[in-house]
Amino acid sequence: MFTKNKNNLTHFDKKTFVNEIVSLNEKPFRANQIWSWIYHHGIKNFHDMTNISKQSREILEKKFSLDRPEISKDLISFDGTRKFLIKFSDNQEVEAVFIPEKNRGTLCISSQIGCTLSCKFCHTGTQTLVRNLESHEIVSQILVAKDLINDWPTTKLSIPNSSEQFNSITHIVFMGMGEPFFNYDNVDRAIKILNDPDGLNFSLRKITISTSGLVPEILRCSKELKTNLAISLHGTNDELRTNIMAINKKYPLHELFSACKIYNRENPHQKITFEYVMLRNVNDQEKNALELINSINKYNLNVKINLIPFNPWQGCDYFSSDETVIKRFQDILKKYDLIAPIRKTRGQDVLAACGQLKSMSLPKSYKNRLTNK
Ligand code: SF4
Repeated sequence: MFTKNKNNLTHFDKKTFVNEIVSLNEKPFRANQIWSWIYHHGIKNFHDMTNISKQSREILEKKFSLDRPEISKDLISFDGTRKFLIKFSDNQEVEAVFIPEKNRGTLCISSQIGCTLSCKFCHTGTQTLVRNLESHEIVSQILVAKDLINDWPTTKLSIPNSSEQFNSITHIVFMGMGEPFFNYDNVDRAIKILNDPDGLNFSLRKITISTSGLVPEILRCSKELKTNLAISLHGTNDELRTNIMAINKKYPLHELFSACKIYNRENPHQKITFEYVMLRNVNDQEKNALELINSINKYNLNVKINLIPFNPWQGCDYFSSDETVIKRFQDILKKYDLIAPIRKTRGQDVLAACGQLKSMSLPKSYKNRLTNK
């Protein structure tokens, strides 16, 4: 969080932020003005904060930074999906993806550089963990994305008509690189900043955290975070899921579903989303759909299931299920009154599988290891 010995102001949640500004002999309302400049207007340097005195701006400048990371790659798909690589001050990079649709714009962000888990279908799983992102680095992904798509209220050029894709960020999903619950405190602080009504103002219902299934953190989050929860499921019995996701050895399905049941009890109006990537002849058979239905009924879960066509990458062992197989799987779930949309494949021409773009920017020796895997 330090840039040339200065604290990045976007590291602080609102309360700490106000305390920091007040400690400079400023009144609390001044802190609110500065907060609004950063998170409502998207201002990147203190000198543009025109209702703050010159003297105060100079003090702020000496003590804090508002530095944003650099966008080191920016790829736009034919379908409007925008995938970019964000480089932090230590030259480490993460991916973020903006997915515009007709009525919403979703930004998928990362919580770690690399990942400790090695889920077999996931490209990020081939990269080792470098470090957790700090909260200001998590928030900065939203700030630079808003810069990129011109999504600040004071600079926005046009409001799209109903036939155009949305060019605003309306939803945030923690589905990029890393396991967000392994970086719980920074994710928690970032969410508080995103949710603040005087700033970015994302309602908790528009933020989704996706986890590989860390049971203690699911239980913690059921009481604390109050965002949407998505769980990477991908397997319907322990043998199959452990094969795809090694974390299942530590938290087998009985423990995971029991935690989901508690989550549902604590958050009765919220469905948990099960993410289910469709892998040809691996987890896409009728018996898998029936196993899933059986578990949902047994644990009495309030869930919806996102069926995701797999996006293959070089060196991966899996292929995507055929469209007809995915449809058949969906029909079985629907017959049992489950909500099971098939996710549209987006941005395939811009290395849309999580972690792919980052891998392209790794040194050649490392890339060779990935593709020879
Ligand atoms: S799916 Fe998530 S938890 Fe699993 S390897 Fe990929 S980034 Fe890590």
